[in-house]
Amino acid sequence: MEKRKTPYPIAPQQAAQIQKSLLDWYDKNKRDLPWRGVCTPYAVWVSEIMAQQTRITFLLKYYDRFMERFPTVQALADADEADLLKAWEGLGYYSRAKNMKKAARKIVSDFGGAIPDTEESLLSLPGIGAYTAGAILSIAYGRAIPAVDGNVLRVMARLEEFTGDISVPAVKKKITETLAQIYPDKNCGDFTQGLMELGATVCIPAGKPKCEECPVKNICKAFKNGTTDKIPVKKVVKPRKHEKITVFVLVCDRKYAIRKRENRGLLYGLWEFPNHEGHLTSEEARTLAAEWGAKPNKTVQAAHKTHTFTHIDWDMQYYLIECTEKPDLFLWADKDELRDIYAIPAAFQPPDFNQINFFGLL
Ligand code: SF4
Repeated sequence: MEKRKTPYPIAPQQAAQIQKSLLDWYDKNKRDLPWRGVCTPYAVWVSEIMAQQTRITFLLKYYDRFMERFPTVQALADADEADLLKAWEGLGYYSRAKNMKKAARKIVSDFGGAIPDTEESLLSLPGIGAYTAGAILSIAYGRAIPAVDGNVLRVMARLEEFTGDISVPAVKKKITETLAQIYPDKNCGDFTQGLMELGATVCIPAGKPKCEECPVKNICKAFKNGTTDKIPVKKVVKPRKHEKITVFVLVCDRKYAIRKRENRGLLYGLWEFPNHEGHLTSEEARTLAAEWGAKPNKTVQAAHKTHTFTHIDWDMQYYLIECTEKPDLFLWADKDELRDIYAIPAAFQPPDFNQINFFGLL
């Protein structure tokens, strides 16, 4: 993106002031994250895709494991899908992993295995949008291309006191063009990461921004005019949907019943514990398990949890039921196989799944 005149021109001395303040602040305050300092295009791509809809602190334990398992574009292109989904297990939004594999195959077939360095080529890859392309181009290739995510939109809207709705594409475009004027000629990667870091740790999304700690408070129009609680403007979000689900942890001969989800819709193609709409009573759950042919012996334990997606909450009632039959309707896996082979999305994992100690009893 060229630096060009926009409806909100930034004076060169103001742009220089923002660049210096932000870069100095980032240098002193950046968090120590595993992909920082190893800014290869592949590392930036993986970390940015993982960070979508996910807190940085949460994804840390997944990033190293993923990079060890799939250290290169070629390794990702060659990945067995079941292995890939297992490595992604717990991160959610599994279509991100599936798209990365598709993109890796295209990088190998069309770009000789090297992640391309133009916006047009990056945008042709599955799962890569303007934000990820900007992140790769600025952080890995040092180009003055903005990467505008929610954090950066919020910082820029407050800095320049944009009063438009930031969820409207025209407003986002205006903010992106304004930001392009502020980019430095050097250290573009640090500038991009500085903006992201500022939005994540100082100009925060929930609660009051920490303006007293902010390196650009002397330039920020929202701070100067006391409008930080009104900006950014965002459309009113629809109330979230709430669904009740009963999940069955059926165990027979120390094996657990799982099945594959349909190849469409939420969490498509992944493994799940059998489940049913609504909250069933223990007795109703045993009756349904009997209809499936599992011959329930006793309900050992019940548990409850809520799983939150971006647009919907699942209110989940679990029953651990001992059975004496293993109907072919399901695949029966032991705890090692559940841990090592089958990708069970976090939504379906019983509360103590990571310890594979379902409800502390078996
Ligand atoms: Fe955000 Fe406050 Fe900094 Fe302005 S001064 S960018 S509102 S933290």
